[in-house]
Amino acid sequence: MRFTPGFIARNPVATTALAQCTTMRIGGPATLVTLADRADLPELLAQPHRWLGKGANLLVGDDGVPEAVVRLGGAFASCVLGPLRAGRATVQCGAAVDLAELISVCIKAGLAGPEGLAGVPATVGGALRMNAGTSTCWTMDWVTRVEVVLPGEDAPSWLERAALAAAYRSCGLPPGTLFLGCELELAEGDPERLRAQAATLKKAKATSQPLAQPSAGCVFKNPAPGLPAGRLIDELGLKGARHGGAEVSTVHANFIVNPGRDASAADVAALVRLIRGRAWRERGVVLEMEIETWACPTELHLHPGQLSEVVA
Ligand SMILES: Cc1cc2nc3c(=O)[nH]c(=O)nc-3n(C[C@H](O)[C@H](O)[C@H](O)COP(=O)(O)OP(=O)(O)OC[C@H]3O[C@@H](n4cnc5c(N)ncnc54)[C@H](O)[C@@H]3O)c2cc1C
Repeated sequence: MRFTPGFIARNPVATTALAQCTTMRIGGPATLVTLADRADLPELLAQPHRWLGKGANLLVGDDGVPEAVVRLGGAFASCVLGPLRAGRATVQCGAAVDLAELISVCIKAGLAGPEGLAGVPATVGGALRMNAGTSTCWTMDWVTRVEVVLPGEDAPSWLERAALAAAYRSCGLPPGTLFLGCELELAEGDPERLRAQAATLKKAKATSQPLAQPSAGCVFKNPAPGLPAGRLIDELGLKGARHGGAEVSTVHANFIVNPGRDASAADVAALVRLIRGRAWRERGVVLEMEIETWACPTELHLHPGQLSEVVA
């Protein structure tokens, strides 16, 4: 990886343990770049790279990654509300904005929609990429346009939401697409009611999820409507299963937690293999990963019939 001195002067570059940048507190070293200047996108895109938000949906391998890991800086963190017209307003939001900040700004302005995502730890870029959602809505529900750089291109373009085949935990754009921001169109709502709805969602999460322990949220996608992965894993008797420092949460079985902050990616991978293998053999269910893995064994994404046995 070679950046010009001018690039390094404008955009902070440092070697960092990615464990410091992920909510799971796992991950080896990488070159972390904070992109401060939009004009430097072409130089950055010419290097091998990966995009990082809050690291709330990532399992990063213990040896780290060789590519530049790029966070968007302050130039991509503005949130601008348009005027209310006929009960609707648009919001222009940069991808580096914290999702909690977007929700708070919209609630204060009396704009409804994003409060349904309350409690999801994310940057707006990560929420767009994952089409993050709750029981009430998905991120893409409120988006009218996204500003992206598609893989192989070096200039941003705006895409209409209608052109994206967004689905459950999928934005419909190819891996490697960079999100720079989005435009939302929101209807007027009562701020007090919106605040109460956000608080209810956050309270439900606090009682049903192990929020005090490092994790990356739900490890697996729900295999079918009405069949939550957490319930299936619970029924398999795997709550509390451990491997090294990693544990299947006793609070929510679809979370793998790192209670002592000493788990390795290999520990988590072992539990993933155990869960996927048992779900397949005992229930005939293929559990697909919801968390993204960087530099982890590709085995984690194979058909579970091909997984080696793990004893927790
Ligand atoms: C306690 C907890 C609870 C959670 N609850 C939920 C929940 O209710 N619903 C839900 O959907 N998720 C949930 N998650 C998972 C996580 O919050 C979401 O997946 C979120 O969208 C991740 O955003 P991020 O900014 O952290 O992205 P990261 O984890 O940093 O990255 C995730 C993916 O997005 C890509 N990415 C990040 N930024 C960009 C960008 N600007 N452009 C292009 N790609 C980018 C990364 O390359 C990676 O592929 C939870 C996680 C935790 C830890």
